[in-house]
Amino acid sequence: MSSRRTWVLNGRNMSETPLPEALLLELRDVRAGYEGLEVLHGIDLTVHKATVTAVLGANGAGKSTLLSVISGTVNPTSGSVALDGKTLDGAGPAKRVRHGICLIPEGRGVFPNLTVRENLWVMTHAGVGRTAVEERAFGQFPRLAERRNQLAGTLSGGEQQMLALARALATSPRLLLLDELSMGLAPLVVEDLYRHVPRLASSGVTVVLVEQFARMALAVADVAVVMAGGRIVTRGKPEQVEETLQETYLAGRAGAVSANGGTA
Ligand code: ATP
Repeated sequence: MSSRRTWVLNGRNMSETPLPEALLLELRDVRAGYEGLEVLHGIDLTVHKATVTAVLGANGAGKSTLLSVISGTVNPTSGSVALDGKTLDGAGPAKRVRHGICLIPEGRGVFPNLTVRENLWVMTHAGVGRTAVEERAFGQFPRLAERRNQLAGTLSGGEQQMLALARALATSPRLLLLDELSMGLAPLVVEDLYRHVPRLASSGVTVVLVEQFARMALAVADVAVVMAGGRIVTRGKPEQVEETLQETYLAGRAGAVSANGGTA
């Protein structure tokens, strides 16, 4: 985990930051499900600070449920979730937000009938003033500045995702959980959005993203995890996992992938 790593996106070198060693998130043998039906069957996952972890897998693999367990909207039936070495067991979603865990759910999570600025102002409940929230958002996403007085519902899909990211950043998250950032967006728009992900990690935010758009996720990830049938079936550097994906998951045989060493 300590080697220098670079990634190339659209022909550009995105970072040369050495991977930090400190753990932020740790899941141990987590089992969880819905109404008595187990969906996650013993997940072990460690996530280091200021890194990007991509969780990949087919529909129904359990990726969103994993994010729900981390964000506290689904309670594990057994196992543990810890942030910075402290257990989160029993902490609900609101408490986890206060601990710096921020989930951007599938489908964006912006208020369509509020303007861009009003969407940002809602986030001042986190204790940051309107000016500071706007400065940070518009500094990161200049296109939002151009649209500041526009209703969020009239923004393009990509701009709505930018706004969702900007709203999340207003809370100064330590752990940002992104569920299907690419949902319903054209590949070029997805590429544009994904440029922001390594920048977030460089600024100290730890990112766990769930994606079916494997190519883009692998391009920005430090670590990639493949899920199938509610289990982590492989974990490694993106180039290692990419090989596995090509051989198995993309060929529609995700369930047949076996663990390839390395603890999750
Ligand atoms: P997708 O990309 O389709 O969301 P996923 O990998 O994120 O796939 P999950 O959404 O975690 O997978 O779903 C895993 C399993 O849990 C699926 O069989 C799904 O039908 C089931 N499931 C998800 N949410 C619920 C829910 N709220 N109630 C009952 N079952 C659910």
